[in-house]
Amino acid sequence: MAQDLGISYFSNPHDLCEQNPQVILLCTSIISTEPILKSLPLQCLGRDTLFVDMLPVKEFSKALLLKLLPSYFDIVCTHPIFRVERSKHGWNGVLFVYEKVRISSDGLRISLCDNFLNMFKKEGCRMVEISCAEHDKYVAGSQFITQTIGKVLGMLTLESTPINTKGYETLLDLVENAAGDSFDLYYEFFMYNKNALEMLERLDFAFDSLKRQLFGYLHDAVRKQLFGNAEKARTLHEDNKVPNPSHNGAASVSSLKAMRSHKIAQVLDHKAQILDRVDDNPRLKIAIVGFGNFGQFLAKTIIHQGHVVLAYSRSDYQDVAQKMGVICFSDAEDLCEQHPEVILFCTSILSTEKVLRSFPVQRLMRNTLFVDVLSVKEFPRNLFLQKLPLDFDILCTHPMFGPESGKNGWNGLPLVYDKVRVGSDESRVSLCERFLDIFALEGCRMVEMSCAEHDRHAAGSQFITHTIGRVLEKVGLESTPIPTNDYTTLLNLVKNTVGDSFDLYYGLFIYNVNAMDQLKRLDLAFESLKEQLFGRLYGVFHEQHFENANESPVKQENPCCQIVPDCSCIDKMN
Ligand code: NAP
Repeated sequence: MAQDLGISYFSNPHDLCEQNPQVILLCTSIISTEPILKSLPLQCLGRDTLFVDMLPVKEFSKALLLKLLPSYFDIVCTHPIFRVERSKHGWNGVLFVYEKVRISSDGLRISLCDNFLNMFKKEGCRMVEISCAEHDKYVAGSQFITQTIGKVLGMLTLESTPINTKGYETLLDLVENAAGDSFDLYYEFFMYNKNALEMLERLDFAFDSLKRQLFGYLHDAVRKQLFGNAEKARTLHEDNKVPNPSHNGAASVSSLKAMRSHKIAQVLDHKAQILDRVDDNPRLKIAIVGFGNFGQFLAKTIIHQGHVVLAYSRSDYQDVAQKMGVICFSDAEDLCEQHPEVILFCTSILSTEKVLRSFPVQRLMRNTLFVDVLSVKEFPRNLFLQKLPLDFDILCTHPMFGPESGKNGWNGLPLVYDKVRVGSDESRVSLCERFLDIFALEGCRMVEMSCAEHDRHAAGSQFITHTIGRVLEKVGLESTPIPTNDYTTLLNLVKNTVGDSFDLYYGLFIYNVNAMDQLKRLDLAFESLKEQLFGRLYGVFHEQHFENANESPVKQENPCCQIVPDCSCIDKMN
């Protein structure tokens, strides 16, 4: 290989050092660095030799080089933060972190160090000079967290679904990237970066805190059912941040990308047909019930398409509505007397039943179409079927995007729908189609799917995405001067999910029968990863302290066997 690259290769370190290289660049693994350094015949090297290491843990390598190298050698500690497979076409924009640990004041030696660093600068690397200690602190808060999330989700064997949200797709990419890193590398990172344990503890604490929050609300809700209103319900608000110290589809991640572009092309074709249809039809009169975050977000586009939007909500939104051109009602009877053709429920999952129960449906025209956009689907489907007279039609939808992920348009984003009950009369069929056309016209990927199927897919994807976003929010991720792409992805995920109310997240948990199972799997995966890390530490300790080191007391079990019942990994087969 060296010959192909035009490199002189030496199998004996004496031969290498006798060539009198100006720079010794250590590309060793963390664990092997010390024995390799000790095996080098340093006395053969010129005293002005520059030693450079590229280990991902910098305080460790700095201390090691200072300890083992005579004081006449110069030392630069570096960490090029990029993946080999991603950077094979060039290093433009990749981060190159370094600290000039010891450079003598001699002009030639200063310029040797600068020339070495300039090689990377010329390739377009983003050069960041920070101390090794700062590097380790930032990296534990970003790279180690990213790898941990990637490893935990990797154990869940997440799969692409036909209704992926943008957030879920970024998680799939993260898992794919983390799969490229061995557990050994992750373990070394954990062992040799002194800040990593604290980050793991914070993640642990954040996950526990989220679970406590969910179970607390659940406990309140069940007690309320058992004891009526004798006890006051807990007010829904978020806990404080952590203090600073299935098979749900078939496609693989890569095939998903091809599927995405194919779907977008189909959507564009379809859009032209819809435009013809919309031009022939008069505009719709749509009443939005629940004019909060998501109701307003939908209203903007619906108005933009020329439809008439009325709104009714618990809070007073007169000013916002007026600015948007929406007619706002504080009395549901007044709203219904306007005889809207469509009633669009944008209420929180938790409040929908209560709002529907008090809704004066008797004031509406027969054939009114009831639509909901709740993020769970079986629950509103059953509720509408139970409560709404047969005169009304029912369409259950879930736009799989929100104000953040859909802020630049809805093109290519999935709209899941189930025509639960639509009369056969031509005008009723057409009303339902015209409503769906609002989304199709914006380029949404229209996915017709039963409510039950939706909930199965969404628990494995959307609920997991929201959970990870909320856990990381509690960890209190901060921006760093050396962010990796994966870390930026996680920061964006947090931004997307915390924009949603806790009611929404709690609704996803409580009203999707599959969510509890997914939470358990996530919990188990995280526990398994910790067990694997601490199991190895325990094994190392015993190896050091007991003669009988080969009979390690720790059973090293592959964590995927514990999460995936039908796991076919090599360990299990053995
Ligand atoms: P949300 O917290 O789920 O719902 C807020 C809406 O619910 C507001 O209109 C609020 O009315 C109403 N509401 C809450 N409690 C109520 C109560 N006790 N009585 C009457 N009304 C009550 O936040 P959201 O983001 O706006 O979501 C609305 C719906 O859209 C949810 O069902 C959600 O699952 C679905 N959805 C959201 C997204 C998203 O990205 N946000 C995406 C797809 C679907 P007031 O504002 O008048 O208090």
